[in-house]
Amino acid sequence: MSEAENNSPVTVRFAPSPTGYIHIGNARTALFNWLFAQKHGGSFVLRFDDTDVARSKAEFAEAIEADLRWLGIDPDTIAWQSKRFDAYDAAAEKLKSSGLLYPCYESGEELERRRKLRLARRLPPIYGREALRLTDDDRAEFESQGRRPHWRFRLPNYAQDPFETRRTEIHWDDVVRGPQTVDLASMSDPVLIREDGSYLYTLPSVVDDIEMAVTHIIRGDDHVTNTGAQIALFQALGAEAPDFGHHNLLTATSGEGLSKRSNALSIGSLRSAGYEPMAINSLAVLIGTSESVAAMSSMDALLEVFRPEFASKSAAKFDPAELTGLNRILVHQLAFEQVADPLEELGISGPSAEAFWLAVRKNIDFVKDVSRWWKVVEEGPESEAELAREDREFVREAFALLPPDPWDGETWASWTAEVKAATGRKGKGLFMPLRIALTGSRSGPELADLLPLIGRARTLDRQP
Ligand code: GLU
Repeated sequence: MSEAENNSPVTVRFAPSPTGYIHIGNARTALFNWLFAQKHGGSFVLRFDDTDVARSKAEFAEAIEADLRWLGIDPDTIAWQSKRFDAYDAAAEKLKSSGLLYPCYESGEELERRRKLRLARRLPPIYGREALRLTDDDRAEFESQGRRPHWRFRLPNYAQDPFETRRTEIHWDDVVRGPQTVDLASMSDPVLIREDGSYLYTLPSVVDDIEMAVTHIIRGDDHVTNTGAQIALFQALGAEAPDFGHHNLLTATSGEGLSKRSNALSIGSLRSAGYEPMAINSLAVLIGTSESVAAMSSMDALLEVFRPEFASKSAAKFDPAELTGLNRILVHQLAFEQVADPLEELGISGPSAEAFWLAVRKNIDFVKDVSRWWKVVEEGPESEAELAREDREFVREAFALLPPDPWDGETWASWTAEVKAATGRKGKGLFMPLRIALTGSRSGPELADLLPLIGRARTLDRQP
C-alpha cells in the first residue's frame, strides 16, 4: 500500500524483546521509527516482544523505556505481547482450521538430515512439506510416542499442489530501500509455534500490527526475507499488509554485529560514560547514510535532515571515537541552562557557576569533565607547578604586580601588559609560566576568563 492510498494516520512501532539492554543499533531502529512518525504527525508504539516469557525480564523492559525517554523518544502507547496471548491463540486457530497452519513432528536432526540430502541432490535446502503427507494415524502414532508438533505456516507459493511450488514474487516498495522482491518459493514454510506451544515472534507481530493499525514497519534489513512471509501472513489473516522499511545495520568496528548480550555499547553504558543523548542520536541516525555525520543539537534539527531513504544498503561501522567527537562539539555549545542541573549534581553552583561553565566548556569532551577545572579554580593545581628557576622568579615578579580588587574580564590583559612592560617578556614566554602557576597545566581555558573566577586571594596562594 503506498502512502497516497493509505489515508490512515501513520502508526509505527518499535518492538524490542526485553531480554537485554538496547544498544546503539537498536536505537537506530527506534529513531528511524520515531523520526518517521514525527515527520508524518503519526504515533509511535513501544511494543515489548516478550512472548518468550522465560528470557524476558521486567527490569530490561523498564530500562529500555527509560533509555528511549532519555534519548528523547516518548512513546504514545506501550504494549506488552505477553498480555495478548488470547489474540494470538485466536489467530492460530483461524489458520489451523483453514489448513494454513499445519502440524509437523520432525526433530532438529531429522530436518538437518533432509537438508543435507536436498543439498546433495542440488535442490534448495528448504522444508519439503513432508508433514503435509502425514495421515491422521501417523499423527496419532507420533502423539502416542509423546511427540508434540511444531506448526508451520503454508506459504502461498503453489497453484494446486503444495508439493509443486512455483516462483511466487512478493513485491513491496520499501520506504528505505525502494522496490523489493522476494520469491516465496525460495523459502521454507516458517514455524510459527514451537513444540512447547510457545510462539515465535512472527505471528504475534503480525496479529499486533493488524490490531494496532500499524501503517509502517521500519526495522533492520536482517528482516528483509521475513517480510515476504509476513506479507503472506497478513493476507492469510484477511488484512492488507502495511508499508515496510528496512534500514542497514550497525556493526562494531571489528565488523561484528551488535548484540543485546554484550553490554558494551548499550545506551545505559554510553549514558553513564557521560555521552549527550543528541550525540548518540546524531550518530545512530546519520552513520551509514548519504548525509554526512554531524552533531545535531536537537531532535528537531535531526528531523530536518532525516529521510528514511538516505540510509545506504551496506552495514555501517559504529566507531566510539566518532561519538566522542560529536559529544565534544555538542558540549562546547551547551548553554548554562542546559547543564545547570548536572553541574549542581557535581557540586558546582552559586553565583560564579555560569561564568565558570562559559569559561571551561570549550575545553572538555564531556560535561562531567568540568569537575577537574572546578577543582583547579577552587583548590588550585593538582600538583605543584613545575617551573624552571628563571620562570619561577619571573612568576614571583609578575605576582607582585597583580592589580588590586575588583577583578573582571579585563584584569588578565591589564596585568600581563604591566608584566610585559616590567620584565620585557612577551608571548609564550610570558603567559606559559603564569598559566602553569595558576592551573598546573600547559593548556586549558582562557586565562582571561579563569583569572576573575580564581580571584585575587586564591591567585596569591599560587605564588611559587
Ligand atoms: N523483536 C523483533 C526484533 O527485535 C522485532 C522485529 C520487527 O520489528 O518486526 O528483531
